[in-house]
Amino acid sequence: MKEKFEILFSPFTIKSLVLKNRLVMPPMGTSFSTSFGGVTPRFIRYHCERAAGGVGINLVEFAFVEAWGRLSSHMPAIYDDSHIPGLKSLVEAVHQAGGKIGIQIGHAGRRARSSINGGRRPWAPSPIPELGGEIPYEMNQSQIDYLQECFNKAAQRAKKAGFDAVELHAAHGYLIHQFLSPLSNNRSDRYGGSLENRSRFALETLARIREGVGDEFPIFCRISGDEFVEGGSSLAEAKGFAKLLEEGGADVIDVSAGVLESAQKTVPPMAVEHGCNVGLTEEIKRHTNLPVICVGRIKTLEEAELILQKKSADLIAMGRALIADPELPRKTRAGGNVRPCIGCNQGCIDRLYNGLAITCLVNARAGREFQIPSLGKAPVSKKIAVIGGGPAGLEFARVASERGHKVTLYEKERELGGRFRIASLPPKRGEINEFVQYLIRSIRSLGVKTEMGVSVKPEDLVKGEDFDEVVVAAGGVPIPFPMAETPSNVSFAEDVLQKKAPLGAKIVVIGGGMVGCETAEWIAESGRQVTLLEQLPEIAGDMEARTRKLMLSRLDSNRVEILCNGVVERVEKDRVIYRQGGLRFEIGGVDHIVLALGYKANDFNPQIPSAKIHRIGDCLRPRKAIEAVHEGFLLGLEI
Ligand code: SF4
Repeated sequence: MKEKFEILFSPFTIKSLVLKNRLVMPPMGTSFSTSFGGVTPRFIRYHCERAAGGVGINLVEFAFVEAWGRLSSHMPAIYDDSHIPGLKSLVEAVHQAGGKIGIQIGHAGRRARSSINGGRRPWAPSPIPELGGEIPYEMNQSQIDYLQECFNKAAQRAKKAGFDAVELHAAHGYLIHQFLSPLSNNRSDRYGGSLENRSRFALETLARIREGVGDEFPIFCRISGDEFVEGGSSLAEAKGFAKLLEEGGADVIDVSAGVLESAQKTVPPMAVEHGCNVGLTEEIKRHTNLPVICVGRIKTLEEAELILQKKSADLIAMGRALIADPELPRKTRAGGNVRPCIGCNQGCIDRLYNGLAITCLVNARAGREFQIPSLGKAPVSKKIAVIGGGPAGLEFARVASERGHKVTLYEKERELGGRFRIASLPPKRGEINEFVQYLIRSIRSLGVKTEMGVSVKPEDLVKGEDFDEVVVAAGGVPIPFPMAETPSNVSFAEDVLQKKAPLGAKIVVIGGGMVGCETAEWIAESGRQVTLLEQLPEIAGDMEARTRKLMLSRLDSNRVEILCNGVVERVEKDRVIYRQGGLRFEIGGVDHIVLALGYKANDFNPQIPSAKIHRIGDCLRPRKAIEAVHEGFLLGLEI
């Protein structure tokens, strides 16, 4: 049979390295290392599963080349020979799993923190702090020499540990990129000024590494194809830099994008189009003879193959898609049910930036592969009722039935998905529904019985069926505005999104959290005049940072009026009265008022003496979907 992904699954040779295909797992932070930077069994198992899933090469995340060169704890270290044995065990395990493995080496420069680096103030090309960071020391020539030697030795350690390649991290606003960017480099010596001078640190480092590892060892270089900050390093410069790297002995250019201030370009959220960096990669490919890697919201093998067919890149990196489903390559080729990354950033990058190890909203096993090598079979098959077909109930049903339990799921609506289904209705949130569909496909193929449009009462659960356990996953219910009589033109956001409420021309949305913002945007897109009223100083405080940034700009372009620090006193048929800064204001002539005041737990609490009762998800306490999914997963494993 002809291979559907003909180019993607053809071998690719980089010097002595032969990859079985052109799929790369890019270097993504995990925080799975010890606080000293040591390799852990968790880290090894995480990489092995992705290698076994069919990736051509895994690139291990940013390993710091100097003791003070990290930006957070639990990053892998490669600054000392004592790190070689741990790294070697990682390499051997991935090789055994059938994969190839490289490692990215880097230094945080001004992004290092004295708080985790023994009080040492960071070093950088110039004493310019990054956003919210410390003022770094300007590096002198001996410090430059010293760090270049650190890179060289780190690359040699990588080779000794058995890695198949090393990647020099010259992107995302870390040390090498700090030299490159005019925003962080205002030196007047041979390392500042022209592009050639700003590239000098990278090129000298590359030359030292090449000398250390020899001609045949592949060196990848990761660059930001555009910094996307005014006055920063642009695409034009990135093209020149790529050419210089080629002349300097690099073997592969790995094209990413952005820096801290434009992090939505580095880890693009759901609102960003798939393959968002294809244009940058294409441009850079035109300016170099080296193979280039394209990364950025490439979710499926179909998308990857198309990019290769168009010759926009030579290799394709899929990051979060592989966190979501490590078996994606193998499963896709076999026509299996792939668990899709939805670009929420909640479980991965958001946690990482908050100092936590990554996991995944849609894949609760991500980061737990070592503790949970497989779902396994339950010792006794039980009859289980699940009340509620939202993310918690569906995920529980999937896991429990896969483990051999007989599951019946009751859902009061005619559609499955619960609040997650509604969350997929606003603009740029449609991908949420892909996960709902994955769960539905899963439970159908596993034979879960579903009773739709059924508002279950406790007595229904004892009638006819003889359930051993009952899992209540009934979700949350929207919080009403505290008033004796609600005018007829007041609706909950979820009813508005489901088009159950008629809207006029002038709308006030009360509550500026994620749901309020998304609903305001959805309404404003239909050309209506929308005011968003929030009692906190800022809106969308519960949103993932990169998603929030894009949301704020869309609200602005949709001309949504935002009123913060506004506490609503009274709601009447055509007006909203609120207090702000000790003064009373009124919004008059209102056609419809939308409430997005959050959720409270659904208190449905069946008492069935013959069955054990469990509660999971929002009916326990309303939170984000990631908690609901993970609770469903963990209970499914335990029961
Ligand atoms: Fe994708 Fe969200 Fe999982 Fe991150 S947490 S890998 S963005 S689904």
